[in-house]
Amino acid sequence: MDFDLTPEQLELKAMCRDFARDVIAPRAEEWNRAHRFPTDVFRQMGELGLCGPLVPEELGGSAIGMTGYVAAMEELGQGDQSLAAGWNAHCTIGTLPLLHHGSEEQKRRWVEPLARGEALGAFALTEPAGGSDVKGMETRIRYDGTEVVIDGRKTFISNAGTDISWGVVTLGRDPDGRYVSVAVPKDTPGYSQGDPYLKVGWHALDTREQIFDGVRVPADHIVGDPEMGLRAFLASLDAGRISIAALAVSLAKAALAESLAYARDRHAFGQPIAAFQGIQFKLARMASMIESARLLTYQAAFLYDAGRPYSKEAAIAKFLASETSTYCANEAVQIHGGYGYILDSKVARLYLDSKILEIGEGTNEIQQVVIARSLGLR
Ligand SMILES: Cc1cc2nc3c(=O)[nH]c(=O)nc-3n(C[C@H](O)[C@H](O)[C@H](O)COP(=O)(O)OP(=O)(O)OC[C@H]3O[C@@H](n4cnc5c(N)ncnc54)[C@H](O)[C@@H]3O)c2cc1C
Repeated sequence: MDFDLTPEQLELKAMCRDFARDVIAPRAEEWNRAHRFPTDVFRQMGELGLCGPLVPEELGGSAIGMTGYVAAMEELGQGDQSLAAGWNAHCTIGTLPLLHHGSEEQKRRWVEPLARGEALGAFALTEPAGGSDVKGMETRIRYDGTEVVIDGRKTFISNAGTDISWGVVTLGRDPDGRYVSVAVPKDTPGYSQGDPYLKVGWHALDTREQIFDGVRVPADHIVGDPEMGLRAFLASLDAGRISIAALAVSLAKAALAESLAYARDRHAFGQPIAAFQGIQFKLARMASMIESARLLTYQAAFLYDAGRPYSKEAAIAKFLASETSTYCANEAVQIHGGYGYILDSKVARLYLDSKILEIGEGTNEIQQVVIARSLGLR
C-alpha cells in the first residue's frame, strides 16, 4: 500500500496551504460577518486551476483527480469553511451532473466556464417537503412542443444567487413519472430565488430557495436521458460525499491547530494548560480521530480515481469525518474556555460551521442507510 501523495499532489497541497494562509484566512471573518460569498477569491482560485479539478483539460479543467482535490481541500478548508463549502458544491454537484450526463453542446456552454472559475455551479435537488426522500420530489416537468415547462420549489440551494452564478441544474418528474434533469439559466422568465437564508454557520455561503413558476426552457436543456433513472443520475453525486468528508477533515485539522497553539500559550495554575493531562488527552483524541477520518477520505478518493466502486467507502468517510469535525470543534471551544464562546474567535466559527457537515450531502442517518445496505440489510 502506498500512503504517499505524488510530487505533483504535494506541490498542489503546498500551493493551497499558502493560498489559504495568505489570501483566504485573513479575510474569512469579513466575509462571514457580511454574509457574502467571495466571488473575487473564487475567480482567483479559477486562475490557479482549482475550479475544475474533476474536469478534463480539454473542457478547461485541471483533471487533478479526486485525490488531488481532497489534498487541495485539506488545505483550503482550513482557511475558511464557507468558501470551501461553496467550492465543494461547485466542483461536485454543481459540475458533475453536466460533465457526466450533458451533451457536447451543454459541456461547451456550461462546463467550460465552470471549470475556469468564471461561473459558480449549483445543483437544486432538495425540496421543502423533504431532502432525504428524493423519490418523493414534487417538482413537475412537462413537455410543450420544443420546450420543457418546470413548476416547483427547491430549498436550501447553494451557489445560485451570486454575481457569477449562471443558473442551476434541477430535477423534477415528468407525466410518465420519469426523473428529468434540466439546466435553467438565470434570467429565465418564471425562475426566481428567495433571500439568502440566515444559517447557523457557513455564513458566507449563498443558500436560497429556488422557485420555478411555469419556467420554459428549450428541450435541449434536458441533461441526460430521462430513461436512465434517478439512481444512475444520483450515482454521479456520490463524489460530493468524499468532498464533504475532506471539508470535515480540514475543519477538524484547523480546530486541532488552533487548540494546540492556544493550549501552549494559555496558562492556569502556574503552567501552560497544555501541560495538564486532561487537555493532552483531548488533543490526542482529536489527532487520532482526524488521522482515521483522513485515511478513510483518501481511501474513498483513491477508489474514485481508480474507477472502482466507492459508494460505501464515501458514505463511511462522510459519516465518520463529519462526526470527527463536530467532536473536534466542540473540544476546541472547550479548550479555549470563555474565549472559545466569543464569536470573534476562529474556533467559535468552526463550531458553528461544523454541524451542517452531519446534515448536508445526505444526512448521517442516510449515510448509515447506505452502509447498512452494503451489509446486505434492506
Ligand atoms: C446550508 C445548506 C446548504 C445546502 N445546499 C444544498 C444544495 O446546494 N443543493 C441541494 O439540493 N440541497 C442542499 N441542501 C439540502 C440538504 O442536502 C438537505 O437539508 C439534507 O439532504 C436533508 O434533507 P432535509 O433537510 O429535507 O431533511 P429530511 O430529509 O426531512 O430529514 C429530517 C431528519 O429525518 C432523518 N431521516 C430521513 N429519512 C431517514 C431514514 N430513512 N432513516 C433514518 N432517518 C431518516 C434525517 O436524517 C434527518 O435527521 C443544503 C442544506 C443546507 C442546510
